[in-house]
Parts: sequence; C-alpha cells; structure tokens
Amino acid sequence: RAKEGGRNQVQFYEPAMHARIVERAAIEGELRGALARNEMFLVYQPKVHVATGEISGVEALLRWRHPTLGLVAPGRFIGVAEETGLIVELGRWVIQTACAQNKAWQDAGLPPLRVAVNVSARQFRDKALADEVVAALHSTGLQAQYLELELTESMMMQDADEAVATVQRLKKVGVGLSIDDFGTGYSSLAYLKLFPIDFLKIDQSFVRDMLGDPTMAAIVRSVISLGHSLDFRVVAEGVETEGQLAYLQRYHCDEAQGYHLSKPILPEEFAALLAQGQARQPALQPGEPSLG
Ligand code: C2E
Ligand code: MG
Ligand code: MG
Ligand code: MG
Repeated sequence: RAKEGGRNQVQFYEPAMHARIVERAAIEGELRGALARNEMFLVYQPKVHVATGEISGVEALLRWRHPTLGLVAPGRFIGVAEETGLIVELGRWVIQTACAQNKAWQDAGLPPLRVAVNVSARQFRDKALADEVVAALHSTGLQAQYLELELTESMMMQDADEAVATVQRLKKVGVGLSIDDFGTGYSSLAYLKLFPIDFLKIDQSFVRDMLGDPTMAAIVRSVISLGHSLDFRVVAEGVETEGQLAYLQRYHCDEAQGYHLSKPILPEEFAALLAQGQARQPALQPGEPSLG
C-alpha cells in the first residue's frame, strides 16, 4: 500500500494494479505487430428482425489471438489502440475486411445484408474517415447500402458542429449509421435528430435488467417509442433470454442481437446461418473456445 505523501510511494502497488500495468505494457508492446502477424480476425454477430426472427444484418467484432496472451477481447486492447493511435490502422483494416467479407457472401449467392462495423472516437475525428470508407467500398466492390457504421453518443456530443459535418459526409456516401450503446451517454433524442442516423441500439445494460427492474423496463419502452416517433429504427443489444425477446416483441422493438439469438461466430458459421435464414446456432461443443 502506498504511504500517503511518503517519499517512497511509487515503489508500492496494490497487486491488482501491478498486474494491470504489466498487462497493459504487454498489450501495447504486442499490439503494434499484431496486424502484420495476422493475429487479428473478425467474428460476426447476427441482428434479427424481432417480428419474424429473420436475419436483418450482422455486426463485425474484432478479435485478437496472440500466441502467448491467448484470445484478447476488445475491451482489453481497443483503449490501448486508441491511446497509441494504432486504432487508425486497425480501424481501416476492420472496415476493409468486413466489406470484403460481405461482398464474398453476396458473391456466394447468399441474401445481401448490411454489415456493421464499430468506429472508435479517434477514427471518427479523423478527417480521412469518409474517404477511407469510400476507398474500402470501391476496392471491394461492396455497395454503400450494405455497410453500416456504429457510432456512439459521446462522439456526437464532443464538438457537435464537427460531428454533424462528419455524419453528414458519411450519410452522403450512402452507408447506414447507428448509435451504439444508446442510453449510456448524455444526449437527448431531440438533439440526436440533428444527425441523419438510421438506428438506435439500446445498450445491453438496460436489456439485461429490464425484466427484473421496472425502471430499466421503462427506459427500454421509452427509447423504443420515442425512437420510433423520431423515425429511428430501434435495435436491442444483449438479448440473452426468450423472455427478453418476447418483451421486445410486445413493445415493437425492430431488431435484436444477443447470445439468445447467436454469439459472435466465424464467417463460415455465419454463412451457414444465413443460408438457413435463421439465427439460432447449435450449442457450442464442450471445450470449444467461445469467441463471444
Ligand atoms: P459493442 O459494439 O456494443 O458490441 C457488443 C458487445 O457485447 C460485444 O462484445 C459482443 O460480443 C457482446 N455481446 C453480444 N451479445 C451479448 C449478450 O447477449 N450478452 C452479453 N453479455 N454480451 C453480448 P465484444 O466483441 O467483446 O466487444 C466489446 C466492445 O468493443 C464493442 O461493444 C465495441 O465497442 C468494441 N469493439 C469491438 N470490435 C471493435 C472494432 O472493430 N472497432 C472498434 N473501434 N471497437 C470495437
Ligand atoms: Mg457495436
Ligand atoms: Mg453496444
Ligand atoms: Mg459497447
């Protein structure tokens, strides 16, 4: 424990804090070469129409498999990538790879659908983002309507004029736009209406607790109905049970995503689901590592 105000305080760490610092340093050191070493890959989680259960789209989620660190979840490295600026290169790779994958599914004769990619705050502030999106669409041959970018409320709130301009530029390219983790930031729906956004994704924390917590349920119902009156389509994230799905159906939520429907899966597994047209995967085999 650090002695308060003592001269030697930097020599003492809580063990947990020490472990975090070591891990962070390892991640930062290894992240730089990860793309070149082919350690990054994308997994794909379906979104379904709540009313019909049909697959409506798919979200690409980044995974990092390191030879000694193992499978590293984005929660452990996206922040580091942002701070070091590596996210710019990584983000470009994600957009390019997701577009190429989606085009490959279409070329294989699967029903065309939209692939969503997550955009980080730093990428969003990068003036080159819209040009990079255009370049990825052009080089892969994917039509803009089959790409969607997931943004967050905090991106809309920081430097609002600049954000409106960026979002309008992206909209002009023709890609779909959504607000991820909706409800965790501080924006108002009226303010969001300034942005040409297509989807609101209700954060999974509300969905997780809505059946046991009337406040959470009220938030979910309000987002759905206000979202609809402002012409957004509403997507619920983190749907883990049949009961949650039924509740969302009853309140006319448009789309849903979550482990109950499918975990994020490999491209070939997603292609098989898409060929069947429904989003329930068989339970994982014992011992098989989950990519969730
Ligand atoms: P997100 O975009 O909100 O993605 C949803 C996260 O919830 C994913 O975690 C997904 O695997 C997980 N999830 C999906 N369904 C369920 C469920 O039913 N229950 C629970 N408990 N979790 C569920 P993941 O893949 O670990 O990603 C975490 C976050 O990392 C993402 O949140 C996103 O903000 C970020 N991220 C992922 N891939 C990328 C990327 O390519 N670029 C950037 N900038 N960020 C990314
Ligand atoms: Mg997302
Ligand atoms: Mg989310
Ligand atoms: Mg998130």
